[in-house]
Amino acid sequence: MLSKETIAKTDIVIVGAGFAGLYMTKRVVDDGFSVDTIEAGHDIGGTWYWNRYPGARCDIESVEYSYQFSDEVQQEWQWSERYASQAEILNYINFVADKFSLRKFVRLGIRVESATFNQKDSSWFVGLSTGESIICQYFILAVGNLSKPFIPEVEGRSKYSGITLHTARWPKSGIDFADKRVGVIGTGSSGVQCIPVIAEKARRLTVFQRTPTFTVPAGNKPIDPVWLEKFKLGYGEFRERNKEMLGGFSASYPPNEQSALAISEKERLSVYEKRWNEIGGLLFMQSFSDLLLDEAANHTAAEFIRNKIKQVVSNDEISSLLSPEGPVGCKRLCVDTNYYATYNKSNVSLVDVSGRHSIKMDEDGIIYGSSYYPLDLVVFATGFDAITGSILSINIIGEDGITLKKKWENGPLSFLGACTADFPNMFSICGPGNPSVLSNMVSTIEHHVDWIADCLKYAKSSGYRMIQATRTAETEWMAEADKRVRDTLFYNCNSWYLGANIPSKPRKFIPYLGFSDYLARCNDISSRGYPGLLFE
Ligand code: NAP
Repeated sequence: MLSKETIAKTDIVIVGAGFAGLYMTKRVVDDGFSVDTIEAGHDIGGTWYWNRYPGARCDIESVEYSYQFSDEVQQEWQWSERYASQAEILNYINFVADKFSLRKFVRLGIRVESATFNQKDSSWFVGLSTGESIICQYFILAVGNLSKPFIPEVEGRSKYSGITLHTARWPKSGIDFADKRVGVIGTGSSGVQCIPVIAEKARRLTVFQRTPTFTVPAGNKPIDPVWLEKFKLGYGEFRERNKEMLGGFSASYPPNEQSALAISEKERLSVYEKRWNEIGGLLFMQSFSDLLLDEAANHTAAEFIRNKIKQVVSNDEISSLLSPEGPVGCKRLCVDTNYYATYNKSNVSLVDVSGRHSIKMDEDGIIYGSSYYPLDLVVFATGFDAITGSILSINIIGEDGITLKKKWENGPLSFLGACTADFPNMFSICGPGNPSVLSNMVSTIEHHVDWIADCLKYAKSSGYRMIQATRTAETEWMAEADKRVRDTLFYNCNSWYLGANIPSKPRKFIPYLGFSDYLARCNDISSRGYPGLLFE
């Protein structure tokens, strides 16, 4: 164990021990590198360690939201529900870490605060929250895309005497809502998941909604073990088919290639009904091929959901407040269990905070305009500074003293979401310009880790000590990523994909749309000896 202010040396420092950091650790250890993996949490798991709020579960099916590098793991692990809960995913991550003895490489409860590149020997000097430093050749960020919680400025918040929580910083011991008056601010995926569960327990739940959200029922259910056994016989082939999919998942329910406008209204509604009732979840957006390309097509889907809200919510005024304007899918679609029906409960109320006022707080509750809401507990389900937020929380200094913050002040630049010029030997797993949040994160992480690890192996075997992206490669890559969404509806709303939820964040679409195309681009680049990267 290192003592305070010790300087240690290792080949690689990995920041984060979630899905990405753990698999990266395994790969580089297998490839003969020494590694220190540094994790801020007091245990491994990343997103699934931090997001313990009631109702937290994945909205990609469990048989897909899991590693595929080991068929033994795939065959051994038994998922119990179609969409796994946070607790089950965390158990799975622990199972994998134990199976491959990864814990011994991870140091917990420590934050990486800074990383400075040393041009003399192409190494990184990594500063930890303990006061220690590590010198390494490669600095790898596995910090997660949605891991820097965002809490908006709320006047009077420090005066509030009740409990405040962010969904992504939930106490391990849980919260007892019985007899409590609870307020939830925010109705994105986290709000949509926790609101129905809190409503079951709390004396009174008040939801503060600024923008209503589109959400589709998950259709979650227990997994039939007989079905699972049969499914596992074709696991490898299923994973291969997923590589052909836009988001790297959903091979079991392939997208409908038809336009929403090419058929009669009756036929269209029956397609939506099937997706809503039988398939459920994110795959609703694959009801037709043009839902994210054509406003008129998208309108038919948005109307379908608005009608569902009307049917489910008994109070017309609440139903209308819950009805979002289009386009659907421009902000990330939410997936729920009983979300809209929750507003029929007598202990639940909805407050529209979309007007000219901002939410304020005092000792005992929330003030909005002339209305006052006394509360025992306030939950901020207010999201994240996505993708770049957690990377830029570290003070990263590259060649000639340039900081990453400065370099990315007008928006991130990255080649393949992996590397950025002026910051040699630094890699980000699923950084800006990677399919990441638009895809099945675990498959994308796994692919990206393999690609980065292969690149390090190539450099090692060829005797190179320094790898970095060229300026041309990163500029062209980000332009390609942007071009892919310019003709879609992704620019038609203020989403976190664009950084629009964070005051003063540059408005740039950050991820790369299209997992299958991304794989092809990466394979092509590595097979041609990595054009776009400089090796020295
Ligand atoms: P989010 O989608 O960014 O939602 C944040 C919510 O907080 C929005 O409703 C936003 O309203 C509201 N808000 C922010 N500032 C506010 C303010 N000052 N006053 C009132 N309301 C305010 O965050 P999230 O729900 O945590 O989800 C983020 C992403 O995490 C998801 O899109 C998804 O990718 C991932 N996630 C996935 C799952 C899952 O797998 N099921 C679960 C949770 C999260 P506006 O819309 O008006 O800004």
